[in-house]
Amino acid sequence: MNDVATKDMLSRRKFLETGSVALAAAGLLSAADAAAQDQKPYPTKNDRRATDPGPGNPPLNGQNPDSAWPPATDSKSLVQTFKYPFSFANKRTYEGGWSREVTVRELAVSKSLAGVNMRLTAGGVRELHWHTADEWAIVLYGTARITAVDRDGKSFVADVKKNDLWYFPGGIPHSIQGLEPDGTEFMLVFDDGNFSESETVLLSDAMAHLPSEVLSKNFGVAEPALKNLPKQELFIFQTAVPGALEADQKTAAGALGKSSRDFAFRTMEMPPTKRTKGGEVRIVDSSTFKASTNVAMAMVTVHPGGLRELHWHPNADEWQYYIAGKGRMTVVSTGNRARTMDFQAGDVGYVEKTLLHYIENTGDSDLIFLEMFKSSFYQDLSLSEWLAHTPPELVMAHLNIDRTTLDAIPRDELVIVPR
Ligand code: MN
Ligand code: MN
Repeated sequence: MNDVATKDMLSRRKFLETGSVALAAAGLLSAADAAAQDQKPYPTKNDRRATDPGPGNPPLNGQNPDSAWPPATDSKSLVQTFKYPFSFANKRTYEGGWSREVTVRELAVSKSLAGVNMRLTAGGVRELHWHTADEWAIVLYGTARITAVDRDGKSFVADVKKNDLWYFPGGIPHSIQGLEPDGTEFMLVFDDGNFSESETVLLSDAMAHLPSEVLSKNFGVAEPALKNLPKQELFIFQTAVPGALEADQKTAAGALGKSSRDFAFRTMEMPPTKRTKGGEVRIVDSSTFKASTNVAMAMVTVHPGGLRELHWHPNADEWQYYIAGKGRMTVVSTGNRARTMDFQAGDVGYVEKTLLHYIENTGDSDLIFLEMFKSSFYQDLSLSEWLAHTPPELVMAHLNIDRTTLDAIPRDELVIVPR
């Protein structure tokens, strides 16, 4: 054996012998945990023997620590991915704004809902259009003017700001326009995972596909007056910033009068549905926002150190959008399968109906995210509440815990812990 090989072997053995001991000495591992780790056949994330010497992407691994080195409680059988960052989405850019979407085509598990993220400059317009899916939206930045006509043909025109919502049922025609000083950005959620923002009925596109003599007859105007109609779709385009809201409302209403329906909702004007030391939640469904007949929202804030408690939703899949901060979620699937993934602002997450999950704030600032459901109502069940309302002997026999421990489990749903 040459000197280099001997030296290599000695330093490797020294590393193996001292790895867990050194961690235990530094207080990072208990002596018992260190001993247990030395017995494990596979490296885990706290094990210094865990290496990944091949090609890799350290910044991406750093954002996804629970994928790089899963917790030992994750299963070795696969769980379909339930995360897709909007950063990966295909962006369509225009003069006046941009659009990108995450649908079942990008995130295969997300069958019940799809998201479209859109930016409009001041004056930029998402052109007049409609579609078969219902459209729920939240303003993420800036201000916008939205327009629609209801099913009686009566007009709706409103201005919306950050955290305001809107809801346009399928077939109801509408538009969105960015206002001063810097337009808007918003998240649209559609009650169909297969939805595509490029498969909507656009005013410009419809006109371009109709014979001009038919349009002339339909509108009662001479054909030459229509010679400058767009020959292809506008989708998003730049135009002048609109004038005063009241003037637009009045002229759009005309003799029919304004719609009695309110397609917008002011989220921050309602108090939190629940508030604890760990954070707060605002639940908005058709019981509070009448127009939102097929989509329900929980807007959740988890403070640093807090946890959106273990729960599940009996009624619908959950589509998530992360607005701020960092978190992680474990989804416990059926058939002894579980996976933990990490999330940050701009990510989409997904949990199938009835699967157990939690969301933990893993950062040092507030974690804010949306839980979205294709349902007229919000519903969840808390694991703690369930255990606390089951005969104690039965629960203790399952979990091998004593009565003091069981009694310490919260008896009511907290939503976000600590209490
Ligand atoms: Mn739309
Ligand atoms: Mn949930």
